[in-house]
Amino acid sequence: MYAIRDKEVLSQPEVRQPRLWIPERVVFTPAALEEPYGQQILQRVQSYNLPVEELPRNRLTGLRGEDERDTYNIAKRTLAVVTAPPSSLKLSPIPPSADWQFHIAEGCPAHCQYCYLAGSLSGPPVIRVFANLPQILSNLVNYERPEEATTYEVSCYTDPLGIEHLTGSLAECIRYFGTRQNGYLRWVSKFDKVDNLLDLPHNGHTRCRVSVNAVPISGRFEGGTASVASRLKALRRLALPPEEGGGGYPVGLVIAPIMPLDDWQMHYGRLLDSISQALDINCDLTFELITHRFTPGSKEVLQTWYPHSKLDMDEDKRSVKRNKFGGIKYVYNSDTMKTMKRFFEDEIQRRFPNAEILYWT
Ligand code: SF4
Repeated sequence: MYAIRDKEVLSQPEVRQPRLWIPERVVFTPAALEEPYGQQILQRVQSYNLPVEELPRNRLTGLRGEDERDTYNIAKRTLAVVTAPPSSLKLSPIPPSADWQFHIAEGCPAHCQYCYLAGSLSGPPVIRVFANLPQILSNLVNYERPEEATTYEVSCYTDPLGIEHLTGSLAECIRYFGTRQNGYLRWVSKFDKVDNLLDLPHNGHTRCRVSVNAVPISGRFEGGTASVASRLKALRRLALPPEEGGGGYPVGLVIAPIMPLDDWQMHYGRLLDSISQALDINCDLTFELITHRFTPGSKEVLQTWYPHSKLDMDEDKRSVKRNKFGGIKYVYNSDTMKTMKRFFEDEIQRRFPNAEILYWT
């Protein structure tokens, strides 16, 4: 456990304008420019008056700086429009979040000091967007069970809303799943610009979630994101029925990564109160509860990305969990896990009796 000392992070300012990431550099591979959807992304990028470079080959080069930190800074300001390789059409399961994961992009413009992508994606953390989106979407039907709901998670390697103004890809996914019989889309974000998603024909086949945390954690560790209050406002708009100007979507909260900071019950109680105030409406609501964990690989990457971070990654205070391939991750000990789990289950049940908790991990 550790203390949050800075007073200023205890009250996080609300952001009135949606948080929009504007890259400094946009590069297209020749193959991406040949794709009709790549041309649509090009038009969007140009509508923001961003200069565009066409790379000589279908490889991303010139993204390394003088050291790891410099490379990080260059990459996080770069949007690369590329084509996803054929291997990406072979989907992987992603329990407990969904049956399958697929990717419309890799990399994220935010700067969370515990980022889940550290250790998952290799190389500089440039934001790669896939121009062959129609091919990616038409492949999904191969994984849809004919008689049973099949769920697909699109946020494993990116924050799809954080780049939506430049890509339009999330809206394309929502439209696609709106036409499916048994296919259901799930996405999650720490951004808040949802205007363009409200009128889409989603047909109830997309669950929109925002990822939130106690204010001392989001204020300190989630650089470049929309404030929690803004995320909750956005979620309310997505959940409200169309006749009240909303999107009428099923919605959800991902509370992650949960950390037993000092006074955690008070801070998470306040978070649940603010969720309850934002969602004082009838809606189809789920919760996903994810505690903080790290691997030796993710810790190493995060320490190069955020060398001054106060994020607690002390192995001595954690339990080791092994997967079936021999990989290890560091999680909280079982007593802490049990106490936190009981707290969240009780407090959510009390405030949201109709909501479903999908999992605790
Ligand atoms: Fe990483 Fe998610 Fe934060 Fe983006 S929003 S930096 S993917 S943790």
